[in-house]
Amino acid sequence: MSAPDRTDRHPALAAADPEIASLVAAEEQLQADTLRLIPSENYVSQAVLEASGTVLQNKYSEGYPGKRYYEGQQNIDQVEAIAADRARALFGVDHANVQPYSGSPANLAVYLAFLKPGDTVLGMSLPMGGHLTHGWGVSATGTWFRGVGYGVRRDTGRVDLDEVRDLALAERPKLIFCGGTAVPRVIDFAGFAEIAREVGAVLVADIAHIAGLVAGGAHPSPVPHADVVSTTTHKTLRGPRGAMLMCREEHARAIDRAVFPGLQGGPHNQTTAAIAVALREAATPEFGGYAHQVVANARALGEQLAARGFDLVSGGTDNHLLLIDLTGRDVPGKVAAKALDRAGIVVNYNTVPYDPRKPFDPSGIRIGTPSLTSRGIPESEMAAVAEWIDRVVTAARTGDEETVTKVRAEVKALMDAYPAPGLPLG
Ligand SMILES: *Cc1c(COP(=O)(O)O)cnc(C)c1O
Repeated sequence: MSAPDRTDRHPALAAADPEIASLVAAEEQLQADTLRLIPSENYVSQAVLEASGTVLQNKYSEGYPGKRYYEGQQNIDQVEAIAADRARALFGVDHANVQPYSGSPANLAVYLAFLKPGDTVLGMSLPMGGHLTHGWGVSATGTWFRGVGYGVRRDTGRVDLDEVRDLALAERPKLIFCGGTAVPRVIDFAGFAEIAREVGAVLVADIAHIAGLVAGGAHPSPVPHADVVSTTTHKTLRGPRGAMLMCREEHARAIDRAVFPGLQGGPHNQTTAAIAVALREAATPEFGGYAHQVVANARALGEQLAARGFDLVSGGTDNHLLLIDLTGRDVPGKVAAKALDRAGIVVNYNTVPYDPRKPFDPSGIRIGTPSLTSRGIPESEMAAVAEWIDRVVTAARTGDEETVTKVRAEVKALMDAYPAPGLPLG
């Protein structure tokens, strides 16, 4: 069977700009054929894809529903109100702002809402699993504000709330972030809230990675505990590239003013529509099943990897992601990641806590199950996935490209058996 011509899916684009059309087609093919294990990525539904490619993008809508600086908002106001309503209902919050362009600007808006330049923020440090925007030095949040970082314990790989409390009492932050980008364990939102109360800080739960798990009931919700909940919409929540800020009523005005006019201009209405669609999908029982399967798959994959001698940070996972320390395998993270990529397994190299290597050449790789679960791949296949990773990591050390090529064919066969959403040609 010959490969389908994917440029047929975008005929106007193919006619107007064959160069870009063929790159989009090649990317569709790549996403169809590879085992995508980057934990911040996913496959959105065809409905979300369609909503994000609509004429809503032609409209300017600075302001909020009913309070715009441009006329002609008859439809846009309804789209944004529906998106915000669905966010409130799904997460059980008083207020939701669906306009942040992405997770990083959403977090910056939180600083703008509560802090003055030079004020102190306490967040998980980047090499321990936190995000740049939690006060790390190279980020605006670490240059305009005074960032103080907490980590995980060397022996457990987990956050130690006693350490966080000691730091908070010593440094007196105005803002505390919990959550991160490489945190394989449940976040104790109640514990963080207690510390924030003790020092009079605003607690932000950044659930960018786990929002879909929270929505689907597969991770505890931060909503009863955090003052502000920040999330992207494109990771486990399986929506378009975007973000939301949710909060109690008392902070609603500060958050809204920080997003617009504080930080942003016109909202991306096509994205707002796609967020609304994703939130509708996330409210279904099927999505709850998806969220639980993401965790079950990650747990099974972790067990299979551990059985093959892989060293998992914190010993395993409670959520969708696994952080693998490759020190014992004698392969740097980047070398392993590149070999896996050649084998059709897409991961990212990542620092591990207390990493002796440099951030651009660290000791670990980070993997996750949101994308493969969206393809419907079940736990029973995790043994095969762990075996591929094992073979390729070993091959990366010995320079055995033959094994890499063999694994690539095996990966492709599994991908063909589980077509990805949004890629109807398989
Ligand atoms: C991904 C992520 C962000 C930033 O999202 P972008 O959309 O990439 O700007 C913020 N915080 C956490 C914890 C993240 O994982």
